[in-house]
Amino acid sequence: KTPILEVNQLHTHFFTKAGVVKAVDGVSFAISPGETLGIVGESGSGKSITAMSIMNLIPSPPGKIVDGEILFKGEDLLKKSEKQMRKIRGKEISMIFQDPMTSLNPVFTVEKQMVETILVHERMNKKQAKERAVELLDLVGIPEARGRLKNYPHEFSGGMRQRVMIAMALACNPEVLIADEPTTALDVTIQAQILDLLARLQKELGMAIIMITHDLGVVAEVCDRVMVMYAGKPVEYTEKNTLFELPKHPYTVGLMNSIPRIASKQEKLAAIEGLPPDLRALPGGCSFAPRCSHAMESCLSHDPAWTEQAANHHVRCLLYEEDAEKVVSE
Ligand code: SF4
Ligand code: MG
Repeated sequence: KTPILEVNQLHTHFFTKAGVVKAVDGVSFAISPGETLGIVGESGSGKSITAMSIMNLIPSPPGKIVDGEILFKGEDLLKKSEKQMRKIRGKEISMIFQDPMTSLNPVFTVEKQMVETILVHERMNKKQAKERAVELLDLVGIPEARGRLKNYPHEFSGGMRQRVMIAMALACNPEVLIADEPTTALDVTIQAQILDLLARLQKELGMAIIMITHDLGVVAEVCDRVMVMYAGKPVEYTEKNTLFELPKHPYTVGLMNSIPRIASKQEKLAAIEGLPPDLRALPGGCSFAPRCSHAMESCLSHDPAWTEQAANHHVRCLLYEEDAEKVVSE
């Protein structure tokens, strides 16, 4: 399959008074139509910044994409003007968030917001756009969709509001949907319903989905492939089944050991001791070393390389580098 979106060596930095924060530091992945890629990591690992970079929504200054390529249908989005990006955003690449209120305006009815979104991108009159809005609300499983058009966002339950946001994101049949922790704020039952909905919509519409999450339960449910991130860098990238059966990176292994656990509303993976590092003052060598139970002397001075350990299985850890044994015994 030809990828619809290909990210190559993306580097997004924030230039703060306290120093340069390498929020995204060398991220590469590719995704094909109909496929779901999970990006997993703790808060601050760079997964949301990766998503914002793809949308070209990094606040600048202080943020800046300093290097890399984001190829959408073979064209580099980083070379597009803001005007060109506005045509792509929301129409060809859409994004949904943990909090629907990020994309829904509390003072307008759902009809007004949906019709407006549709009219920005599609050649339709108001009446056609309203019919399309009903269709979309129906598609995402809102009962008696037509009757709910005049409702305000707060008149929907949390789960239904999430459905409205998904309907808005799908208004123009995007080819890529980026979902940033879309179910984190919901209780477990509703969470499962929303994940089922996304899987069904993907089957019907054939879009590629990038699922950003801190929850490996979500990954297990919906993803085909997974990239695990730590401190701005990908540390492991492979098929979902391989990741669950043969995790290689000590951080991934730690994440695995932290499930099953009670669904937590906080973006936190408590089972791994210690905290994510301060990105302004990263230690030399492997960023995970202070929390890693396998850390060796060399981990403090050698930055592990991103290597393909097996077919389609990348990992960044000295334990798996060719000369690891030599390094250990030094
Ligand atoms: Fe742990 Fe060393 Fe591997 Fe980093 S490089 S994850 S510290 S073993
Ligand atoms: Mg986030």
